[in-house]
Amino acid sequence: MEPEERAETARRIDSIEVADRLPPEPESPQGLDPSAIYCVQVGTINVPRPVYLPTADSVLHATLDGDYVTEWITEPLACPLCRTDAELKLQGQWGAPATVMCTCGYQWPLAPRHTQWSARQLQAALVSSAAQNNGLPTPPPSK
Ligand SMILES: [Zn+2]
Repeated sequence: MEPEERAETARRIDSIEVADRLPPEPESPQGLDPSAIYCVQVGTINVPRPVYLPTADSVLHATLDGDYVTEWITEPLACPLCRTDAELKLQGQWGAPATVMCTCGYQWPLAPRHTQWSARQLQAALVSSAAQNNGLPTPPPSK
């Protein structure tokens, strides 16, 4: 396989797998303002990540062009700046991709290649936060 072909195959597998793992869209909590930007304390954010492993056959022939299998691992997301994986927050609009906010002040987009998955994480966090706190978090005042 050509390198570009391999990359294309990897991308295809990636998107199929993530689509399979996409949780259903939850019902919007009562009092949701679809235009508001919410910020939810999540703590540790577990992210599934595909790992491409060469098959025994391609290892045997010492080639990178062989088949490979995709294995999924789940690992806590860590801040690229301070390396913490605790006390993380998600911020964004309902149904839009989420931004991760660290206590150190660093912010970065959650899974920018998988915007639907990213949006679902924020939706799930908002739903559970609304259930626990008897209502949605108050959105920060718009500037
Ligand atoms: Zn940080």
